Amino acid sequence: MTANPLLEAMEVDRLSSLISSLADVQSRLQQLRHAPPSLLKSSMPFSTPSIRKDFQQLKELTDTVRSDSVQDALRTAASSEKADKSDLNRNGRREMRKRRRPPSPESPQPYIPYDKRGPSLFPVLDDGLPPLQAEGLVDYIREFNQTHSSKLHIWTRIRGSTQLGNPAVVRFTIRDVLVCYITMAYSHKDPVLVTESVTAFGPREKKSPHSQSGFIVYQSLSQQIARMLQSNPRVSFQSLMNPMCAYEGIFIDRCTSCERVLSAEGHVPPVVRMWLEADKDSDKGRWEPRHAGCPQT
Ligand SMILES: [Zn+2]
Repeated sequence: MTANPLLEAMEVDRLSSLISSLADVQSRLQQLRHAPPSLLKSSMPFSTPSIRKDFQQLKELTDTVRSDSVQDALRTAASSEKADKSDLNRNGRREMRKRRRPPSPESPQPYIPYDKRGPSLFPVLDDGLPPLQAEGLVDYIREFNQTHSSKLHIWTRIRGSTQLGNPAVVRFTIRDVLVCYITMAYSHKDPVLVTESVTAFGPREKKSPHSQSGFIVYQSLSQQIARMLQSNPRVSFQSLMNPMCAYEGIFIDRCTSCERVLSAEGHVPPVVRMWLEADKDSDKGRWEPRHAGCPQT
């Protein structure tokens, strides 16, 4: 122990300044914990003013932590903790706080695949069908067009060409209701047609299969079909056609949940087709119309 009161006072001053710079770093770090995880994940971190602000704060904090004064404080704290033989972790409150704190957004999170799909939104029964292959498409379309009011056509980039492209694009039309372009991939090794995307348009919209409808209803219809495909990425073309045909009454069908044609919010018709298995009221299962925002059970 030093006997010089002046030196003692200076040491106390130095320590309290170190503690206050560490406390400042800690409070700024806590603040940044509330920044959205997109700060680190987004490919466009500068896209919004609030992200820009968070990013700036993160940069400033990094500079502060690297500064001599904070590095000095951290070193002093580390050696002081090492020299201190008392068990700091025995402090109950500190332990509690440690346990209660939710995982911080900055910590690397376990990888969660995007593909977190639930069960297939297609009927289980359909799974028994041999899925349509590229070479069977023309015959399938011919038969489909003879037995359905909606129609299928092979779409090609070059007018008049009959060559099936790869990916193959098929146009599905319900007269005066909608046009959908169904894009399917296949290969020599795996000739099964796998639907990659379905894009819906208004019956009189003249747009390419790879663009987007100008109408909300067709945009949300495309989203809904994408959701279905995500639930069963290798669903057969035949199975996909069942809910597609069920869109015939999209502008007159009532949602079976809220019993309205147009949703109360957004005034969009029921774009969801939900499969209900046969029950005591019906001997066959059916596709029920629902709004995207209404309960899906
Ligand atoms: Zn509804």
